[in-house]
Amino acid sequence: MLEGLTQDYQLTIPAILKRADQLYGKREIVTRRPDKTFHRYTYADFVSRTKKLAVVLKGLGLESGDMVGTLCWNNYQHLEAYFGVPSSEAVLHTINPRLFEDDLAYIVDHAGDRALLIDEVLLDVFEKFREKVNVEHVILVSESGENVPEGMLSYEELLSGADEGDFEYPELDERQAAALCYTSGTTGRPKGALYSHRGVVLHSLMSATGNAFALSDNDCVLPVVPMFHVNAWGLPYTATLAGSKQVLPGQHLDPESLIEEYEQEKVTFTAGVPTVFLAMLQALDKEPGKHDLSSLRSMVIGGAAAPKGMIEAYEERHGITVVHAWGMTEMAPIGSVAHVTPEILELSEEEQLEYRAKQGYPTPFVEIRAHGDDGPVPWDGETMGELEVRGPSIIKSYFNTEEGDDKFSEGGWFRTGDIVTIDQYGFIKITDRDKDLVKSGGEWISSVELENALMSHPAVSQAAVIAVPHEKWDERPLAVIVLKEGESATGDDLKQHLEGDFAKFWLPDAYEFVEELPQTATGKFLKLKLREQFKDYQLA
Ligand code: AMP
Repeated sequence: MLEGLTQDYQLTIPAILKRADQLYGKREIVTRRPDKTFHRYTYADFVSRTKKLAVVLKGLGLESGDMVGTLCWNNYQHLEAYFGVPSSEAVLHTINPRLFEDDLAYIVDHAGDRALLIDEVLLDVFEKFREKVNVEHVILVSESGENVPEGMLSYEELLSGADEGDFEYPELDERQAAALCYTSGTTGRPKGALYSHRGVVLHSLMSATGNAFALSDNDCVLPVVPMFHVNAWGLPYTATLAGSKQVLPGQHLDPESLIEEYEQEKVTFTAGVPTVFLAMLQALDKEPGKHDLSSLRSMVIGGAAAPKGMIEAYEERHGITVVHAWGMTEMAPIGSVAHVTPEILELSEEEQLEYRAKQGYPTPFVEIRAHGDDGPVPWDGETMGELEVRGPSIIKSYFNTEEGDDKFSEGGWFRTGDIVTIDQYGFIKITDRDKDLVKSGGEWISSVELENALMSHPAVSQAAVIAVPHEKWDERPLAVIVLKEGESATGDDLKQHLEGDFAKFWLPDAYEFVEELPQTATGKFLKLKLREQFKDYQLA
């Protein structure tokens, strides 16, 4: 092999920090404080404090590869940890406070966290599992630096005692571990996805491209997705790499607060799960035209399927472009974005909407295939198979466990557990998770599609379709419905709503109305629990 003469410049998080240090000093980072007032500072302030944090961590004795857990919302201190921890050669381990206490203790213990940064507003969560874990340094993150409980250190005090001049950009191997996130899957113990510096940097580049989020220094980015959930989809890294202004909403994810931030800070790009944006849509619908959201060029929705009706409603009623995206913790997480390509722009508006409601086509360097019973299925938009992915920001095994090894197959392919079709343009459409499909008389029925259609009914707030055992057909679909407050609808109404859009055998056999659906800590419906609840359900 004749080796190329390109430099082996290492792709690391400190390299992103250095770029921000040299180029973006004046850009702004705005945080919504717990009391709802705003904290503002510049990238220059951010870089200075981040360097100090790296110095502090080294001073506490943390070494290369040590884990530093964070239990924090979306705020500037958390952003400092995103860069300061990996720049000290330790690993940033973001922890999801919505998990149950046993899982939290398990995660902190399994990761082997040597230090923890705790947001003052999440102190009560920490107290719930404090006794069950053994962490050397617990650091309270609060702006005032006051009321630090016994046995804890003050983040502000530590920073003010550190000298920025002691920081040196480290020469790291790009393959070194940088960040750790645990999946909040619906079965088994949470499993760790340990990303390398290289993986994080490439993920940032991949998501910054025009095929994905198209972020630049002209943008103002507001991640609604929490920074404790898959690195807020990598946005803190991507936005900093791009030099975008950043608005961090703290713990205030209610529509009113977010809308105020969009308007006041002239946010151009935001991202989050459908639940948040459904609530926002309802709020906007109540007072049409009241807010000027014209600066918002892209509202990325993912983590769960963005219903077609929601994409259409935002566009038609509020002039906001919704961009649907798909990903997984194991992918750091962005895998595909429903970016409207020239081929799709040539289609009718109705067809364009169909494409925009799909999960999108892969971001650069994410390879995809769908695996059926006899190997990869054709990209015909019809044949279903399990989606498999490979690429430079996708993990190759889980952290420190053999559980889940069966998800990684030969050739570096990771089995996603999502059942999809892929069409001629490479657009993925999730038809279900493998365990959520309903198999009736040997034919597959997609519960996701039924749920999306049910949720487009004006009276329906949430819908889950599950398989219940059936003597003749083996399984039949049951729809479990939560109605919007003050609305009413009968099973017959919903059946009528679905008729015509689906084959007859797809229509649910029954509709059960409930007050609420069981959800995971990250807002996904717990199908397993529902299936158990209705396992003896008698279909008429
Ligand atoms: P998590 O690792 O918690 O982000 O969960 C990843 C899983 O969420 C994927 O495997 C999908 O099943 C689901 N998911 C993520 N994004 C979407 C989307 N846009 N549409 C449907 N399901 C999604």
